[in-house]
Amino acid sequence: MYSDLKLFQECCEYLLNEEIKHPVATPINTDILTDKLQLELDTNPLDEDHFKMLLKQIISHTPKTASKAFFNQLFGGRIGKATLGELLSVMLNNSMYTYKVAGPQVGIEKEVIKSIGAIIGYQGNYGGTFAPGGSMANFMGMLMARDQFNPDIKNKGVSGKLIAYTSEDAHYSIEKNAAFIGLGRNNVRKIKTDTQGKMSISDLQQQIQNDLNQGYQPFFVNATAGTTVLGVFDDIENISELCKLYDLWLHVDGAYCGGVIFSKAYSYLIKGIEQADSFCFNAHKMLGTPLSCSAILVKNKTHLYQSFSNEAEYLYQTNDDEYNLGKTSIQCGRRNDALKLWTLWKSVGTSGLEEIVNQQFHLANVAQQYISTHPDYSFYGSEEAISVCFNYKNVDPKWLCASLYEAGEIMVGHGSFKNEEFVRLVTINSCLDESDILNFFKSIESFVKNQAMAENFV
Ligand SMILES: *Cc1c(COP(=O)(O)O)cnc(C)c1O
Repeated sequence: MYSDLKLFQECCEYLLNEEIKHPVATPINTDILTDKLQLELDTNPLDEDHFKMLLKQIISHTPKTASKAFFNQLFGGRIGKATLGELLSVMLNNSMYTYKVAGPQVGIEKEVIKSIGAIIGYQGNYGGTFAPGGSMANFMGMLMARDQFNPDIKNKGVSGKLIAYTSEDAHYSIEKNAAFIGLGRNNVRKIKTDTQGKMSISDLQQQIQNDLNQGYQPFFVNATAGTTVLGVFDDIENISELCKLYDLWLHVDGAYCGGVIFSKAYSYLIKGIEQADSFCFNAHKMLGTPLSCSAILVKNKTHLYQSFSNEAEYLYQTNDDEYNLGKTSIQCGRRNDALKLWTLWKSVGTSGLEEIVNQQFHLANVAQQYISTHPDYSFYGSEEAISVCFNYKNVDPKWLCASLYEAGEIMVGHGSFKNEEFVRLVTINSCLDESDILNFFKSIESFVKNQAMAENFV
């Protein structure tokens, strides 16, 4: 084991070095991937030296999500204390279902859940757990809503005409989950968004009313805190009023930007969050922990037991279900995803988490400022978002993103909103500073210029 740890350390050092030297890994075409990196598995073992070489080759060609050139996804960067927690949880290798097997790790998860709940203003009998990602956290929210609407469904299956609501700009997992819970994709109403990308409250109400008039059974509304493309926030307060009026479960999908709960300056974006029946957020997005770190909170933890507990004598052999977390989770064996958030939170404090979130908005402001003062750029979307969407001159955004990637310059993606295509710069890596954002634009400008020159000389 010790020699493996030494090799691990060597690989880490190699990776950190590569991130600086080659912040964008050279892409390999899929048709030659297996050959080029000798991925094939053999009957015979590989000797240690070749094994090491191979690992380094793989590291070298793997996209570098913690580098200063990665803006492609809703996560990025690396925060040491969070990574430490993740590595520890791998080494400890506990499973969170029982106190007997996880010990203090259970206390760590419970403490994290308790503190998040307190921050969003839940009181009394609230609870929560960690899910294998935001999509699955949304699944858990929808399932609890279904079982609260009709507790018979979990035994007998869906028979009514249940209807769920979300906006047309919500994450695709909402529809997928509707299929999983037996509702069917067609029974998700995709409510129109306004010009900013927020779910239209009047359309939502009209749709609910229409459905009721036609004998359907509305049961669930999903509001999004940080839509996947534009990063905008639905109006939770007004949506929750409608949910009360029609007695519907309100779930808030904060996978992307739910982390604003930690910021005094930006928590106004999720005003009314304490009204939500369930709320999830990905710490591996805004808080910068390694993947996956997805918490789901529920206002009344009875719902977690109602939907997820199962008696299992072979497993639950010691008492105190409060500490046997298997009774409230979607999995059986479950890795400890809470530890990395705990090590981060403990080491920087809640004020440190706030700084992480504020830095992302600061970087977004720097980018927006740059765009607004440079006439070659046009800006799309919202100023209250860390997705900064833009176009440069008349350059096709798809071409630009693909070419920057192939040339090893920058990893950034494109998106669209109401038929406009654009580049989407995500300023989620709080380890970056202003100069990194300005370099991003400079790189684009010189890349486009060089490209144009090359074309003229060909
Ligand atoms: C990323 C995201 C999800 C999915 O989270 P995963 O952890 O990738 O499953 C869900 N909703 C929104 C709004 C997201 O941005």
